[in-house]
Order: sequence, then structure tokens, then C-alpha cells
Amino acid sequence: MAIETERRRWDGKLYIDGSFSDGSGGEPGGVLEKATGSRLGSYAVASGEDLDRAVRAARSAQPGWAARSYEERALLLRQVARAMEERADELADAIVRETGSIRGKAQYEVHASQNELYEAAGLASRATAQIVPSANTGKLNIVQRIPVGVVGVITPWNFPLILGMRAIAPALALGNTVVLKPASYTPMTGGQLLADLFETAGAPAGIINVVTGSGADVGVALAAHPDVDMIHFTGSSEVGREIGAVGGRALKKLSMELGGNAAFVVLDDADVDLASMVGAWSSFHYQGQTCITANRHIVMRSVADAYRAAIAERARRMTVGDPAGDDVSIGPVISESQRDRAHALLQGSLEQGARIVEGGTYDGLFYRPTVVDEVRPGMPLYDQEIFAPIAPITVVDTEEEALRLTNETPYGLVNALYTGDLDRGLRFAERVRSGMVHINDSTALDEAHVPFGGLGASGMGGRSGGEANLEEFTERRWISLQRTTVHYPY
Ligand code: NAD
Repeated sequence: MAIETERRRWDGKLYIDGSFSDGSGGEPGGVLEKATGSRLGSYAVASGEDLDRAVRAARSAQPGWAARSYEERALLLRQVARAMEERADELADAIVRETGSIRGKAQYEVHASQNELYEAAGLASRATAQIVPSANTGKLNIVQRIPVGVVGVITPWNFPLILGMRAIAPALALGNTVVLKPASYTPMTGGQLLADLFETAGAPAGIINVVTGSGADVGVALAAHPDVDMIHFTGSSEVGREIGAVGGRALKKLSMELGGNAAFVVLDDADVDLASMVGAWSSFHYQGQTCITANRHIVMRSVADAYRAAIAERARRMTVGDPAGDDVSIGPVISESQRDRAHALLQGSLEQGARIVEGGTYDGLFYRPTVVDEVRPGMPLYDQEIFAPIAPITVVDTEEEALRLTNETPYGLVNALYTGDLDRGLRFAERVRSGMVHINDSTALDEAHVPFGGLGASGMGGRSGGEANLEEFTERRWISLQRTTVHYPY
């Protein structure tokens, strides 16, 4: 069964230079509904020649697109946002079925993608030049912001629509053109539907192109392509390192949004019931499959018994099932390999002395929300990104120890803490080493206008969101104008 949509013609197609076409890289791949395993549709497999065509289209469209008025660029983004509004139910249905998420997450994703478009539309007029002083008499220094050029956008499967849109919208707003390569688990909502939305909204040919296929073939080729000026990559730190090496050798601008190992810290003055609610959400939303999932619950000893019991009770009450049909708390994990990897992290930690408090079992792709106690640094669950609904608890004796453990990880995307004293929370947050820290709220927050991103193994290149996108998607050009005659010694 294919996803019901008014626009079926994109099913299994590439989108290059304003038209949908078959891929010449092999037989189309299948797209499965994650909860049932039934076939939703297909995706085209791009060849090297298809990718070249997409890059050529983006290259030749770029100067004309950048030369358009900011109003025209902003208008297109607003029209895409309006098209999303009209098709919000269809898009949410597709996300539920293709990603296995509950409807609330899918609706959030549609809404947040629209916000990205509206924010970016506002950015189109803010790529301002500066006049800066000169030491030389009679010289006028102008510093302009100019587009980077052709941006290759490579996205993961967990939030395919928003993670594509958060790069595409500001890139286009600022006069760049795009070649998008979505993940093969989610090529529809991550790619084909995006192409369809832009086409319907009247995007000029070539400004956005979508090529589908494997990371090892199409992703690598896009990252290495000599005519792509920038790679905006969202995905695992492991693949980020590979793309960093390839893109670095080709001297491309790189923007990397990578993995996480977020701590959710519960201080000894926290309201434990509220903390357990926020902690449960932080670990279990979308089956724990986000970079901003709480991967470690670091809890002070005096509240640990109460916190463990409260979060385990919340996990016990959660329902797991097909999010398309049932009213459930969480759906399936993305794949058997992802499930097996996470389960192996759990088993490895149990062998080293960790203890299951709740859950720890699965049925097919449906993994029970799981709470694990006595998790220590050095255990797989503690050290590695889990990407499944598992909440590991580590008990500490002091606030200093909580801070030290929070910071002792190569990752630095987000951390959160719960406390009864906001001032104490702020002092703690100011000593945390991560791109984002949330006090008395979840690790899982994102807003289109605030800078999102991480340090260390979690990211490189800058931030997504609002003003930060000006830095990401433009270069600076210094133009100087000498109004008086200058004299050099030769
Ligand atoms: P992944 O790194 O396996 O794949 C991401 C994308 O890269 C896919 O499109 C894939 O096809 C492509 N790819 C794979 N190998 C490639 C290569 N060698 N060269 C070029 N492209 C290649 O990640 P995933 O499993 O799809 O997503 C989960 C990961 O993404 C997690 O680590 C998660 O933390 C991270 N993530 C980070 C953020 C963030 O904003 N920091 C947001 C969401 C997800």
C-alpha cells in the first residue's frame, strides 16, 4: 500500500532541475511502514551521473536565484509553509507511517518545519552589509554577506522533514541552491515530499534537487563532489567524521550536527515527581531515537530511590504499539539492526553490574520503555548513544560529581537539570560543557529562532537557527574603495 497522497507522481523519483525522473543507479528501493512492515512506496537510486546532473542544475540556478530580490526568495518560503498548512494531515500521516512516530511527534514536525520556513523568510532581508572603518585615509570598506553557493544537505531518518527543512529553508533564503540526500529509511518525508512541496509552491528549476540512494554511494559522492561548496550534515558522529575527512580534503565549508550523550541531572532539591515526568519524556519521546534524548540520568543519592520508582512507574504505564491505528505512547524503533544494537548495549551493561528496574524486553520492533539502575561510566549504556527507549540511572553523592560526570563525555550537544532552586540551576548550567543546557525542562527542545548545536563529538561548524543561520549559509566578502590616490614605494 502506498502513502495516500494527491501527488503520487513523485513516488520513487529523483527531483532534478525542476522535474521528477527515474534513478539510473539501479532498481528502486522499498519504503516500509515501520510498525507493520508493509510497503509504502519506493525510492529511486541515483547514479553518479544523476548526482552530477543535480549538482549542475544547482550550480547553474544559483546566481539567478541569488540575484532575485529578497522578497521573491521569502515569498517562495512562505508559499511552501502555506502548502504545508494545507497538507498538514497528509504530511503527518506520512511521518507516522514512515518514521513509526506517534501523531503528536509528526504534527510537531510539520509545525516546526513551517516555523523554519517563516524564520528563514525573515532572514532573507537580513543578510546585511557593513561599513567598517579603515586605517587608510579615503578608503571605504564594505563587508558583504554572500551566498556560499551550492549546499549539499545530508539528513538522518529520525526527524526527516524538519532536519531537511532547517537547512534548506535558510540556505535558499540566503541565495544558495541545494542538493538534498535524505536517509533511505525515510526518503519520502525526508526527500520526495519536500521536493513536491517546493515544486507545488513554484520553486524555480534547479534551486532544490533531491537525490536518493545509500549513504555509501550517493552520500559519499555528494560530500566529495568538486562542485558542491558546502555540506550540511545531520547524522551520527561516526559518519560525520568520514564526511569531515572527505569534505575537508576538498576544502568545503562544513556544518555538522552530530550525535549526543545527554545527561538529565536531578539535584537533591528537585521535585522528584515533576523531574520523573520530564526525565521520562526526555528518554522515551520518539522511542529515544533523537540526538537530544536523555542518555544518562544522573541523580543525587538522597532523591534516587524516589526518582527511580517514579520514572519506572511512568515507563510501566506507557503503551507501545502501531501509532497509525492505536492511541499509544510510543511506536516501533526504526529497524531490527537499531533494536539489536541498543539491546546489546543493555546486555553488555547488565553483564557489568547494571540492573533492570523496568522493561528490558521487546516484541519485534516494539521495545518496552526501560529503566536501568546502577549504570556507571565505562558501561556501554553510559558511554554510547543508545537510540532506543532506555533510561540508564547513575547515582551520585554530590553536585560536583554530577557536574563532573555530565561533562566527562566526548559529546557536548545538550544537557538538562532539575532543581528546586533556579539560581543553583543557573550556576550549574554555566559550568556545563555543551551547546545547550536546559534548567527544569527536557533535554529535547528546539526552536527555529534559537541556536541549536553541539560541541566536541556532537558538532562542528556552527549552529542552526535564527541569526546563527546567517553565519552558516553565507560567506563574507570585503570590498574596498579608495577615494583618494594611494602611493606605494614601487
Ligand atoms: P547516519 O549517520 O547513519 O546517516 C545520516 C545520513 O548520512 C543518511 O542520509 C545516510 O544515508 C548518510 N550517510 C551514511 N554514510 C555516509 C557516508 N559515508 N557519506 C555520506 N553520507 C552518508 O545517521 P542516522 O542513523 O540516519 O541518524 C541517527 C544519528 O543522527 C544519531 O547519531 C543522531 O544523534 C544524529 N542526529 C543528530 C542531530 C543533530 O542535530 N545533532 C539530529 C538528528 C539526528
